[in-house]
Amino acid sequence: MRATALAPLFGVKYGRAFLSLGERVIVSFSGKKVYMERAQNFQRVKSFFGSELAEIGYDGVVGTAEFKRVYHDLMPVQRSRVENICGDQFQNLIKNGSIICMGIAYPGHAIESIDVRLCDGTFNKDLWNVYAKEYHKLNRVLDMISEKIADQFGGISIPATVEGIVVKNVEEYYAMTVSHRVVAENAGLGWRGKNELVVNEKFSCALRFASVITNLPMIHGKKVRVSCKKCKACLEACPFLKNKDKLENYREDCRRYIIQLHLDAEVCGKCIKACYLNSIFSKRFKLR
Ligand code: SF4
Ligand code: SF4
Repeated sequence: MRATALAPLFGVKYGRAFLSLGERVIVSFSGKKVYMERAQNFQRVKSFFGSELAEIGYDGVVGTAEFKRVYHDLMPVQRSRVENICGDQFQNLIKNGSIICMGIAYPGHAIESIDVRLCDGTFNKDLWNVYAKEYHKLNRVLDMISEKIADQFGGISIPATVEGIVVKNVEEYYAMTVSHRVVAENAGLGWRGKNELVVNEKFSCALRFASVITNLPMIHGKKVRVSCKKCKACLEACPFLKNKDKLENYREDCRRYIIQLHLDAEVCGKCIKACYLNSIFSKRFKLR
């Protein structure tokens, strides 16, 4: 279900002021029960996602973030989008809501096919399109799974990306999307790297994400400490990233660069490949 009314609230509320020993015992027991219910709900979502991934033979990660926290971390224009998507459920979600974030990892060969050079120094377009093809495939699969999760557990799916829309400036995209990176960070699925992508401890930034807004009570992840340290592999791979503090809007430079590549998708991925293969964590990262 996408952008439709949410399932009814589950009516779970955390404790109140402790007035007596007897009441304290009751509230404490009820708090534990609430926690258990939240943990079980998350486990159900995780198992569902795991079985969907197993069917297609891909790896991935799933986590949850508090709706309110994500909402406050979004750009103002994306907060408005979230308000529109949620409609009259917005106030309930601000009080009790969660956002499920699911990520699917690219296969290793797709990342390795990015920007491979031929003898004459030009790039191998056919090979780079292997990555472009996987990008489309992961978007499709993520949209399908996120809709299934929204149907199964009650919620609103937010697709992996908006595709096929022509814009004159990267900023036009901002109002059309909700940043899955913000959701993933708040769900504890990785830290925001120097390449501005979410760096997961196992899959590097070779992940694509989709999300589901829900009022199903769930436990929430916590932000992971930024851990790039002295690594600069992604900055060395891309002049726009290297100079992002000096450029007016490096994302617009990135968008223009991607367009002139004329690949089968609007992608580049050099900063992903650099993180996966050349970063200080490259030995730790593993793709299928
Ligand atoms: S996608 Fe390419 S151009 Fe854009 S930031 Fe990454 S390496 Fe740079
Ligand atoms: S390449 Fe290095 S600096 Fe860049 S995001 Fe990955 S770990 Fe961080």
